[in-house]
Amino acid sequence: MWILHNADLYAPEPRGIKHLLVAGSSIVWIGDDPPALDSSLGVKEFDLEGRRILPGLIDGHVHLSGGGGEAGYQSRVPAVALSRLTLGGVTSVVGVLGTDDVTRAPAELVATARGLIEQGLSAWCHTGGYHIPPVTITGTVRGDIIHIDRVIGVGEIAVSDHRSSQPTQDELLRIGAEAHVGGLMTGKAGVVHVHMGDGPRGTEPILRAIEGSEIPARVWNPTHVNRRRALFDDAMALAERGCTIDITAFPVEEGEDAWAADEALVRYLDAGLPADRVTVSSDGGGCLPAFDSEGRVTHFEVGSPGALAQTLLALLDRGQPLDRVLPAFTSNPALLLRLPRKGRIAAGADADLVTLDPKGRIVDVMANGTWYVQGGNPVIRGPFEGTA
Ligand code: ZN
Repeated sequence: MWILHNADLYAPEPRGIKHLLVAGSSIVWIGDDPPALDSSLGVKEFDLEGRRILPGLIDGHVHLSGGGGEAGYQSRVPAVALSRLTLGGVTSVVGVLGTDDVTRAPAELVATARGLIEQGLSAWCHTGGYHIPPVTITGTVRGDIIHIDRVIGVGEIAVSDHRSSQPTQDELLRIGAEAHVGGLMTGKAGVVHVHMGDGPRGTEPILRAIEGSEIPARVWNPTHVNRRRALFDDAMALAERGCTIDITAFPVEEGEDAWAADEALVRYLDAGLPADRVTVSSDGGGCLPAFDSEGRVTHFEVGSPGALAQTLLALLDRGQPLDRVLPAFTSNPALLLRLPRKGRIAAGADADLVTLDPKGRIVDVMANGTWYVQGGNPVIRGPFEGTA
C-alpha cells in the first residue's frame, strides 16, 4: 500500500491538492486530509510536495512486436522495450501490426501484449494489419475479438495508401460489421482502427462507410489524421459525425504539409468539436518512412512511445492548460477503447499514475500500483533490456 501526499490532482479534470491511497493495483481512496491509518498496515508514504499527478497515459497505437519492413528485411523494427513505454508515462498500450502482416502475425502480437502484462503493464491489441482479408488467429475478426482476451478491435486497416489492399466499400463494411458485433458480444471496443495514408482519397472511404450502412460512426477510428493538413480538416468533420479521430505524434519538419500533434490537438479543441472524440497516439515501434513518387523509401525513422510525453510537454510549453489537453491522452482513449478502470484517477480505478515536475517533465510513473520510474529513472526494466 502507498499513501501519496500533497498531489496536485488532474483526474484529468483539476481537483486541487489531494491525498491518494493505493492498495494493491488499485486507487482505493482520495481525500483532502491525510487518512488515519494504523501503523500495522505498513503503508509506505510518498510526499509529492504539490507536484501534479495525472492518470497513466494510454497509447492506442504501438507496434509492440515491432513494425516497419518497408525498406527491406533489415528495416524490421525490434519489439518495444518496457522502459521505453514507462519512461514516457505510458501505462496502457494497444498493439497493432502494420505494413508487414505476413512475417509478423496477430498471435505474436497477443503474446507480446501478454508479456507486458506479466511485467505489470496493461496491454491489449487489435487483430489484422494493413491488409484485407485481415490476418487473424481464429479465422475471423469477430472470432478473435470474442475468443481472445487481449483483442479489442481490428486494424490498422490501411486506406488511401499505396501500401493498402485498396479495399472496396463492401469489404470495409464487412470488417466494420465484424468489429461492431464482436464489440457488442463482449463489451470490448469493437472498433476498426483505420490507417489513413497520404492518398488523395483521404477520408472518403470512411465517410462512405458511415453513409452507406447502419454501422455506428464510433466503430470507425481513423489514425494519422494530421499527416496532411487537408486530411485533418476532413477528419475533424468525421469527429462531428461521431468518429473518434487519432492524432499521431510523429516528427513534423518545418514547412511540411502536416500538423505536429500539439498543433493538431489545439486546432481540434479550438474548433469547438466534441472534446472527448480526439486521442493522441505514438506509432511507437513503427517505421516512419518517406517515399518518393515511385514508391521508393527515401528515408525512415522509428516512432517512439516517448512521443506522447513530448507532445504533452509541447502543449504545456505553448501555454495550454493541462486539463484542456490531458483527456486526449487519458480519458478519451479509455472511453473509445471501453477500458473503464483506465484513463482516470478515481477510487476504484487502476493505480496508473504519472507525476510531473513544474516544467511538465515526467518524474515518476506507477503502473497497477508498482513504481516503474522514480525521479525520472527506470527502476524496473524489461527482461532483455541492456543485453542487446
Ligand atoms: Zn499506420
